[in-house]
Amino acid sequence: MRNFWCEVDLDKLEYNINKIREKTDKKLMAVVKANAYGLGIETISEFLDDKVDYFAVSTIDEALLVKSEKDILILTPVYTEEDIALVKDNYILTVDNVETLNILSSAEKDFRVHIYVDTGMNRFGIKPNKVNDFISDIKSLYKNIKIEGIYTHLHNTANTKYTINQINLFKNILDNLEEHINEIHLLNSNGFIKYNDSVDFDTTVRLGNIIYGYDSHKHFCKKIYQYKAKAIKTYYVDKGEFIGYGNYFKTKNTTKVGILDCGLIDKFGFTKDLKRNIFYDAAKAVYHHLKYNSGIIYNGRQLRILGRPNMNFTLVNMDGIEDDAIFNIDMSPIAGDSSIPKKYRKGDVNV
Ligand SMILES: *Cc1c(COP(=O)(O)O)cnc(C)c1O
Repeated sequence: MRNFWCEVDLDKLEYNINKIREKTDKKLMAVVKANAYGLGIETISEFLDDKVDYFAVSTIDEALLVKSEKDILILTPVYTEEDIALVKDNYILTVDNVETLNILSSAEKDFRVHIYVDTGMNRFGIKPNKVNDFISDIKSLYKNIKIEGIYTHLHNTANTKYTINQINLFKNILDNLEEHINEIHLLNSNGFIKYNDSVDFDTTVRLGNIIYGYDSHKHFCKKIYQYKAKAIKTYYVDKGEFIGYGNYFKTKNTTKVGILDCGLIDKFGFTKDLKRNIFYDAAKAVYHHLKYNSGIIYNGRQLRILGRPNMNFTLVNMDGIEDDAIFNIDMSPIAGDSSIPKKYRKGDVNV
């Protein structure tokens, strides 16, 4: 068993859901795609089962992992016939084009769908001026397809003017719908934080990031995860010795070394101590891009990494620190490898 793990605090997850519920009476769709943003789709969905109204995932493969009988919206409107065969009664498919409808209509069962409208992102979605025709085609030609919702995605929430225009565009599409559609949703986490009070025509909010407390310094939810590590071995190295690959570190005094069993393979290991090599610079560019921030922290202070992180070990200076100290490892589950063990906590209990 590794001495490196990601602790997930289910009490904080519940706290976040309660906070969101305090701020809105709209239905809550919990986005658990990408393995619940790296935190474990099975445990997270099971825990959220009685706390949210809907789930959303990216693909049907992911929906199969959700431990809940609640409705699950599949966000990616691209399906093969193999996918379609796996659709259960509580799955709702996103549709945005006729090819998809044709695949659905060739199957011998009914499908529940939400229509996805492209209001500017240019990823998936039907264009605004095609929405009414698309809906009337479904109604008249695709008898096994039942339209239950319509939605769009806010992709540039940092820009208020742009987003307000986008919200108005979507509102305008809804005002001109020729058919009544029950479920309407557009707010993701940043949309919810900034625009929930000004959007009153939607029925549901579709939230991922804030539920888990990513970027928690920017909003009211708590970060629910923390990577942690404990040395698998500690020892002393004499003054004037090199440590690790490439002799990047030389001791100035007798030094207590701790070996942590986390390393490059865990996407860990890019801190200030590595500044002087090309690898660091290249990695830094990549990780800056991913907003990845990594450090090993004990009692509020960054520990010094000795040399460079290895494939699966990192050596740290443990002068004055007891052998069984537990360190906080500052990294994001989105960047972290999903094979890193997770420990779920509820109260003081591991679950
Ligand atoms: C991922 C995703 C969300 C959730 O976004 P957050 O910013 O994590 O809240 C909502 N809608 C769609 C279409 C998504 O792909």
